[in-house]
Amino acid sequence: MNTMNKRPAECHREGNMRCSTLDFEQLLGESARIHGHLCPGQVLGVRMSILGLSRIGILDPKGRDRKSIIVFVEMDRCATDAVQSVTGCSLGRRTLKFMDYGKMAATFVNLKTGEAVRVVARDDSRETAGEYFPEIENRHAAQLEAYKVMQDRELFDVMDVRVRLKPEDMPGSPLRRIRCDSCGEYVQDLREVERNGRFLCRPCAGSGYYVPVVRDIS
Ligand SMILES: [Zn+2]
Ligand SMILES: [Zn+2]
Repeated sequence: MNTMNKRPAECHREGNMRCSTLDFEQLLGESARIHGHLCPGQVLGVRMSILGLSRIGILDPKGRDRKSIIVFVEMDRCATDAVQSVTGCSLGRRTLKFMDYGKMAATFVNLKTGEAVRVVARDDSRETAGEYFPEIENRHAAQLEAYKVMQDRELFDVMDVRVRLKPEDMPGSPLRRIRCDSCGEYVQDLREVERNGRFLCRPCAGSGYYVPVVRDIS
């Protein structure tokens, strides 16, 4: 029997040693605590992560599998905190990559096997959720409860993908450190830009998110 496609709770009941440590209720409680509130996004993010991790054979993301995962998130919304909390991946460890696509989706990569799945929240899951608990008046609360019990296939589309990971994006020591020829600040991990023989940081090359404020000191 393939235990990978089963919900973690079912695995535990069968006492299968290869089964996941991912317990839905426990993970949801933890992610709501870290995020600051329980919301539909936490439920979706926790379930998205459990599904993604089990599809790539990651059973113990914060324990023995912790060096085998990288996760790409495509949104900076509630669910992102849940993905971080369940997977243990983080920006600081370079195991969480933020792709600013504005999509409710995440890709889970097993570094050992190269397997990767992209899990996308289905847009019609909101409507389906509404049919589950018509007796709950508050739409938000109804959605939250429905997301807990809906089938994976009602909530998500899952696709096998291949992810090309560049050496400069991997955890470990920085590959290179170079000084920007314009501002003098240091740039790590090959994020510099070459312009006419000069090495520039991205802001100096014109793609900065800030502009310095020049104060009049007279
Ligand atoms: Zn939230
Ligand atoms: Zn610069």
